[in-house]
Amino acid sequence: MQTNNQPLDNPMARLPSVDYLIQHPASQKLQEVYGIPELTKAIRIILQEVRQALMSQGSALILSEESLLSQIEQRLVQRAEKKVKAVLNLTGTVLHTNLGRAVLPKEAVDALTLAASEACILEYDLGEGKRGDRDQLVESLLCELTGAEAATVVNNNAAAVFLLLHALSEKKETIISRGELIEIGGSFRIPDIMKRAGAKLVEVGTTNRTHAKDFIEGITSKTAMIMKVHTSNYAVQGFTAHVEDEVLAQIAKDHDIAYVVDLGSGNLVDMSLFGLPKEPTPMEALKNGAHLVTFSGDKLLGGPQCGMIVGSKELIAKIKKNPLKRMLRVSKLTLAALEAVLHLYRNPARLPEKLTVLGQLTRTRENISAQASRLVSHLEGYFVDSNLAISSQDVMSQIGSGSLPIDLLPSCALVISGNSKSAQKIVPRIEKLLRKAPVPVIGRIKEQQLILDLRCLRENQEEILISGICNALKEIS
Ligand SMILES: *Cc1c(COP(=O)(O)O)cnc(C)c1O
Repeated sequence: MQTNNQPLDNPMARLPSVDYLIQHPASQKLQEVYGIPELTKAIRIILQEVRQALMSQGSALILSEESLLSQIEQRLVQRAEKKVKAVLNLTGTVLHTNLGRAVLPKEAVDALTLAASEACILEYDLGEGKRGDRDQLVESLLCELTGAEAATVVNNNAAAVFLLLHALSEKKETIISRGELIEIGGSFRIPDIMKRAGAKLVEVGTTNRTHAKDFIEGITSKTAMIMKVHTSNYAVQGFTAHVEDEVLAQIAKDHDIAYVVDLGSGNLVDMSLFGLPKEPTPMEALKNGAHLVTFSGDKLLGGPQCGMIVGSKELIAKIKKNPLKRMLRVSKLTLAALEAVLHLYRNPARLPEKLTVLGQLTRTRENISAQASRLVSHLEGYFVDSNLAISSQDVMSQIGSGSLPIDLLPSCALVISGNSKSAQKIVPRIEKLLRKAPVPVIGRIKEQQLILDLRCLRENQEEILISGICNALKEIS
């Protein structure tokens, strides 16, 4: 039977074919930019979505060829968008683990770009013309800056702790105070790490008080080391007692075992020089007798993600011989960035200006507050008909990444709030729209207000924030 007039009745049949759309003159540019396989995929996806819409809405759905082609283009643009994209970190947490922790200084970005785009020295000894060791790129700098005899670098500090335990304490005992059996975000728990590394955990003392004799009594013929873990993300206060580095180092020496310190967020200068709270440094720990110290590259240090182990030459050599070192090693990009950051530490006076993280941490409330006032007067007008209000408010920022949990930095924020009880309900929508902006703006909601801490907002990012807020206001109006 002839079905000539069916296409007119059946909107499905009116849909152009995949081939037709690929051949369409308007598709030629898309084909060039995205390639035929990707264009075909986008066409199939859109046609499928239109078919589904037709099934649920029937022929009421109006569609022109132009609208189909424009939907296809939009989808191609969307699919080409990268997941790793820049955001404005206005969370008030400077070293935000979910937002990539330390923003690298220009010197480090230049160094890693070079290492990425050219053949470069990684494991090559230029003097000998033969294979070298990648740790040598940063080892002497690390030794110079920490006073260590030797150093090695791995994927992150968690890897540093794991490798150290595996290399030195496998099938042997490691003694640690009960007050330091910490959990850090992302399932890093000291007891679990010990187990996985094959080390036997010997807990001594109590949660709030541990004494020298607890450690001494814990030592057996199977003890490999005493370990101290910096309780970086919480503070034990009140009736507490812990044993100083010097004492633990002496106990270790007397019993011919190792004393190792996991600092977490170690820094290579005394942060109090810059008006920041004091954190223990690797050089202090080594000077006080620690044999090995581990710390992160992308916390207070302000560099790329990596973990450093510094200290005794003999122990580092043993660690480097462990087969796991090969699995945990860092790439040329990391080493290039780390080397550049370490160079900056040779001139501490210029660090706040050179090292991005330190610049962010040392911004004064006066400076941030002036920026907030400027932005409020610029943005106020856009809020007039919105039922919402914008103002500036003093807040406290956090360093983040488990550093100094009780030390907060005076800062200033933009606050978007509702003019009435019902308007408060719009605040989460604004928060979401800002999160979905082309350059996502990440703030936090507190007591039905959106708080945008400006500590990490550079002057050249102000326009992005302004347009993000204006577009979000348009969407809800
Ligand atoms: C952060 C931290 C770690 C883990 O370091 P990553 O670089 O995140 O792997 C380990 N120990 C302590 C004490 C820490 O603060």
